[in-house]
Amino acid sequence: MKNIEISRLQQHLEQLVGERNPRTSPQSLRAAGDLIAGNFESTGLAVRREEVPFDGASFQNIYGTQAGTEPERGAFIIGAHYDTVEDSPGADDNASAVAALLEIARCLQGIPLRVPLIFTGFTLEEYGFVGSRLMAERLRKDDANILGMISLEMLGYRTRQPASQTYPPYIDPRNYPDTGDFIAVVGNEPSSRLTQALADTLKQKTPALGVEHLLLPGRGDAFHEMRLSDHCPFWENDFKAVMVTDTAFFRNPHYHQPSDTVATLDLEFMRDIAAGLVSYLIDPAV
Ligand SMILES: [Zn+2]
Repeated sequence: MKNIEISRLQQHLEQLVGERNPRTSPQSLRAAGDLIAGNFESTGLAVRREEVPFDGASFQNIYGTQAGTEPERGAFIIGAHYDTVEDSPGADDNASAVAALLEIARCLQGIPLRVPLIFTGFTLEEYGFVGSRLMAERLRKDDANILGMISLEMLGYRTRQPASQTYPPYIDPRNYPDTGDFIAVVGNEPSSRLTQALADTLKQKTPALGVEHLLLPGRGDAFHEMRLSDHCPFWENDFKAVMVTDTAFFRNPHYHQPSDTVATLDLEFMRDIAAGLVSYLIDPAV
């Protein structure tokens, strides 16, 4: 099997990083979508684009599907948003996750999968999960058989600095590290098995990688900060979904800033996370 390569992550980052915003840089946003579609195509995925109307214009979700041997079990979705807020180059948020997504797709090329896998580049996450909401609502309306969903939300920022990790008030910090050097898997109650299985696989695949998981009660409706990514519309439409994240503004001081650049990212961290995800996706337990 192919390995996740840091040089390829770096190359994707160099091509992606730079403001990608529907209002101030719509051409860059569209170019990022094209880049994702081009990579999916060269990986051999079946590519489809879905129009996402916004502000009188149209943007796109990008889908690349790899077939599985047991389609009757349902499809599994893994996605990352590729837009940014204004005035941020969006390296950690969220080029880091898009780069990982493209490398994961490349590594799974030619591997016989159990269930079909839909790689997704979501647009307009920063405006209230507009792209992922369109997809989740369509799948619900079609009564689609979806096994589970993973949202990759910022995978590149790690620090060894003590007291660098903060938490929202409803999390007891005594139960979690105070150093921002781990990856977090966040799920809700219906997704508890998916959350646990994914966290276990990430730990097993790379023992050096710190992995923490959090299970929110119920559908997770009451935990605003844990809903801030593309898994949220999937939770709201009663699909099993998790977020994999470096915890964003609870750790990364460059969040939504002009300083969110490639130089702040830890590519070994990204590589280890992506390698664990590859292992999980071959036969995802949910
Ligand atoms: Zn984001």
